[in-house]
Amino acid sequence: MKKFLLSVNFAMLILLGVFATTSHQEEVKCPACGSTVKLEVLSSTNNLGGMDWDFCSRAGGAQPILLIPGTCPNCYYSGYYGDFGKDVEIPKEVKQKITKDKMLKPLLEMKDDRIPAYVKYDLIAQTCILTGKDDLRIGDQYLRGSWAVRLIWWSNMLPDDVQKEVDDILEEHRKSKGDYERGNDAAIRTEWGYELSAKVSGLSGNKKAYTALAAIYLLKTFGENPEVIKLLPAVKSGLKAEDYTKYEKDIMDSINQERYFQKKAVEFYEKGLPTLTKDDEISSMNYSIAELYRRLGENEKAKKYYGESLKKGEMPEHFKIYIEGQLKTL
Ligand SMILES: [Zn+2]
Repeated sequence: MKKFLLSVNFAMLILLGVFATTSHQEEVKCPACGSTVKLEVLSSTNNLGGMDWDFCSRAGGAQPILLIPGTCPNCYYSGYYGDFGKDVEIPKEVKQKITKDKMLKPLLEMKDDRIPAYVKYDLIAQTCILTGKDDLRIGDQYLRGSWAVRLIWWSNMLPDDVQKEVDDILEEHRKSKGDYERGNDAAIRTEWGYELSAKVSGLSGNKKAYTALAAIYLLKTFGENPEVIKLLPAVKSGLKAEDYTKYEKDIMDSINQERYFQKKAVEFYEKGLPTLTKDDEISSMNYSIAELYRRLGENEKAKKYYGESLKKGEMPEHFKIYIEGQLKTL
């Protein structure tokens, strides 16, 4: 069986080679101020990383979500490749707001043109507001901003000996699944995070702390932040006080950043929801709003919107399965 698995992995590698996320740089002109802007343009990608419950799509290898937003380093006009096209016309008064009144403000002061993707998404949302785009489109930018925060989080805060214990627990859990059926890798590993989390209360001492750390690693990776916050106290006994303080700050800074975007997304989605007329779109938007509220820890509102989502008859089967899973976490 091991040989079979190896060959599957090998096949995956070939797939990654063929469909790896590749991009090239193109120089375009900012339609607001005329400066030259360097954009990453995707040549190919894949979805081998699966999809989080809130539709954050993951590639194997480089993540398109982190590559595709573009920002003019001079005036901060922001968008995607198409927003920098030769035929893009920006009304004079909007141009003035961007170039003279400097109304586009980055979340972070930038010293060079290496602007993080989440800052670009915030600027794209601001640009959409200035150019009069509809609320749902603006909400989409903030949702992507929350994904960009999630995708750059990487646990590197633990002392080496603790990290090894955590890695062992993760590996043991993976092995306990045997030759599990591969599919949506993000959803599978999210489930594993909840499974490990469920074990924590029955454990004690370092084993409890390390299992909580393993669960947090998986759950934080996929943005299951309310469960991460619930688990943090169980970690305390396994780390030195100063290590715990650093670890908690790293996690909470990232969660708060993600939540900044999620709050904005939900605000614009709720405003835009009444403009939708097709059942499947209404269902899908209610689901997205429910997911945002769940991730923000606002469970009653999440339940209400999951309920609205289920009311519409023609819902894809996988939505119903997702919702059953989500409701269990509340
Ligand atoms: Zn510009």
